[in-house]
Amino acid sequence: MVIYKELEHKAAGHDGTMTDEDGLLIFKPLNPQELAFYKNIQTRLEKPKRFEEGDVPLELWMPTYLGLLEEGVNKPTDNAQIITDGSDLSKSTVALRGLGLDENSDGEDHKGFLVLENLIAGYHKPNIMDIKLGKILYDENASEEKKARLSKVSETTTSGLLGFRICGMKIQENKYTMDLDLQHHEKHTDDGYIFVNKMFGRTRTVEDVHQAFDMYFSNQKLSEPRIEQLKHNFSQRLQLLYNTLLNEEVRMISSSLLFVYEGDPMRWDEENDEDPIINDQFGDCSGDESSLATDFDTEDTPVRSPPLSSLSLIDFAHSQLTPGKGYDENVIEGIESLMDIFDKSFT
Ligand code: ADP
Ligand code: MN
Repeated sequence: MVIYKELEHKAAGHDGTMTDEDGLLIFKPLNPQELAFYKNIQTRLEKPKRFEEGDVPLELWMPTYLGLLEEGVNKPTDNAQIITDGSDLSKSTVALRGLGLDENSDGEDHKGFLVLENLIAGYHKPNIMDIKLGKILYDENASEEKKARLSKVSETTTSGLLGFRICGMKIQENKYTMDLDLQHHEKHTDDGYIFVNKMFGRTRTVEDVHQAFDMYFSNQKLSEPRIEQLKHNFSQRLQLLYNTLLNEEVRMISSSLLFVYEGDPMRWDEENDEDPIINDQFGDCSGDESSLATDFDTEDTPVRSPPLSSLSLIDFAHSQLTPGKGYDENVIEGIESLMDIFDKSFT
């Protein structure tokens, strides 16, 4: 029984990332270092010491890690095994019971999947942008060949000068997407979406990269005030994330910022244009874990509706906690450049 499917709306990355039928969860091919990072962040008991009142801890910027789906050795129908961190999250696995792994999966040697909160769950028309952070794109474990290759990528793209690079977008078509170079986008279906590929981001320059943000936000279905609100909210989120990262002692090589906004005006109507700056739907600060359980316990869908937009950090295959080592300058620089662009272009 296969009741999960290829993730339809994604902005970049490798193949093999799946979602369930209802699109509540993400199954990402397991990488041990990424698993360790999620566990370490989510199971830490105290926030970093230097946190001021009002600062947001790193975990609130990350998708919630819900468990590990491991390939078993039993017969196909019960070869799904769920492992969670502890009793707090165990209820959340109710929705996962009975999941089978695809027997025809790609044959790579990953043994299982990370189960994560799907950041676009509940969106009608998600518009997604993936931005890779950092000037340095490799860690000390990389081979010499990989170091050389990724140094070259950094030197020849905005990564090297600005500390970020647009990896890709999956957005609704708009007046800017019509002018995109043939090599820079793909149109798969007639659903009104366009996939802006990595060659687009690699060919942006310090001078013109701000236009890519104009393109991302230029949604033909949303009114000007709504678009202004989106830019304003993302600008605030970048500032808040910056404060978070100044207080955290981590190294996040080649992780990404994931921008998401709702392109269906009906959902904006339903929400009266209200869009929280920080989404605490899963990661409830109050420490009341029961809210997570009720999301999955009795209903098939989450109790609360998703936000109209969000900013998150994703992709931690080369991330680690580094207590005592200070903030992650490599990532901070990229956020600074982004704040600068948002200030100049959008305010
Ligand atoms: P890779 O290691 O292959 O680069 P990523 O974690 O960067 O994988 O994910 C690739 C893409 O999948 C992202 O650009 C994003 O569009 C989508 N994605 C990843 N994680 C999530 C998530 N938790 N919720 C929604 N979309 C996600
Ligand atoms: Mn990625």
